[in-house]
Amino acid sequence: MSVSLPLVPGDETRTANPRPGILDGPPDFLRAWLIERGQPPMRVNQIRRHVLARGVVAFDQMSDLPRELRTELANHFAVFTTRVERHLVAADQTHKLILRLQDNRMIECVLIQDEGRATACISTQVGCGMGCVFCASGINGVVRNLTTGELVEQLVRLRNLVGRSAAAPEELSAAEVGHQPVAVGRLTHIVVMGMGEPLANLDHLLAALVLAGDKNGLGIGARHVTISTVGLPAKIRRLADLGKQYHLAVSLHAPNDPLRTRIVPTNEKTGIAAILEAADYFFKKTGRQVTYEYVVLGGLNDQPVHAHELARLLAGRKAHVNLIPWNEVDGLPYRRPLDTDLQGFITTLRRHGISVKVRKRKGSEIDAACGQLRRQVEAEPLVVPD
Ligand code: SF4
Repeated sequence: MSVSLPLVPGDETRTANPRPGILDGPPDFLRAWLIERGQPPMRVNQIRRHVLARGVVAFDQMSDLPRELRTELANHFAVFTTRVERHLVAADQTHKLILRLQDNRMIECVLIQDEGRATACISTQVGCGMGCVFCASGINGVVRNLTTGELVEQLVRLRNLVGRSAAAPEELSAAEVGHQPVAVGRLTHIVVMGMGEPLANLDHLLAALVLAGDKNGLGIGARHVTISTVGLPAKIRRLADLGKQYHLAVSLHAPNDPLRTRIVPTNEKTGIAAILEAADYFFKKTGRQVTYEYVVLGGLNDQPVHAHELARLLAGRKAHVNLIPWNEVDGLPYRRPLDTDLQGFITTLRRHGISVKVRKRKGSEIDAACGQLRRQVEAEPLVVPD
């Protein structure tokens, strides 16, 4: 099942002079703007709480603010700088959003609802510079980092969908034009695994996670946040030194350098050894077990020799391996692993005492190779609202 939201009348995102997002920029900027207008500084938290905690999607809905201030805010800022370009809902209530940014670029984010959890998977960059061979997001390289506001908007938009069915978009659309706030559910987890290399946009990501973790915001603590990386050792160490309880997931995909460089070209400069050393440092500093993600490409990295090599590589480490069986995609020369190969891989790792799981597929009918749907929507002609 797939649903497209109607375009929102009056949406400012395609005008020549878009307004800055209320969730973007340092709080000092908004505070100074408010003080200039004779407003108390505590209005910053009041405004942000409306959006982050209460599901308010228009300034006019901030009923405890003076009416003139609401009007002035609406003239200077946007609650959301992104617009929903495509909204797909799977039968298992996985939601995928394609969001159009103010510069007309597009990103995607996903809400996964499972066993009492509501997990937001967000993008951190437009495009990606890592060039993993199985991923459509990196085909044209990286265009730019997302701003803090664009990161938080993905979380807020997905949070506003928690518990909603496919019928909800009309209700959401009505809310966006100012009729009423949406009734919000609760996000429980964040995984930073969408388009882009999160650690290449670490400053903005950390600022967004502070807002996400605030009890007056989304209230999602560090232990419920997973940050994925192909492995930027210096940034992993910086993350470790923060002493926060984020969960680190390293996308390994191969047990030796020549094969990994074939799958993740940036490995040529980094090398697996430096990444593992940084991951060990992260574990030492935070006490949090590191997860190694491994996209299983049939015949390429799923043979017994690879499983044994991976087991040797991770021996003695408190590590968990997440296997992600590749699903075939038109135009890419990879195939799904055979069940027997996958099972053999799992058995070998377990025999060596390594914790391993196969990642469950959610929203399979709206699933596509990372970045594929976004590229498809980007190729469609631009529709400008009247
Ligand atoms: S898999 Fe992730 S890191 Fe690799 S190119 Fe795609 S978005 Fe970038």
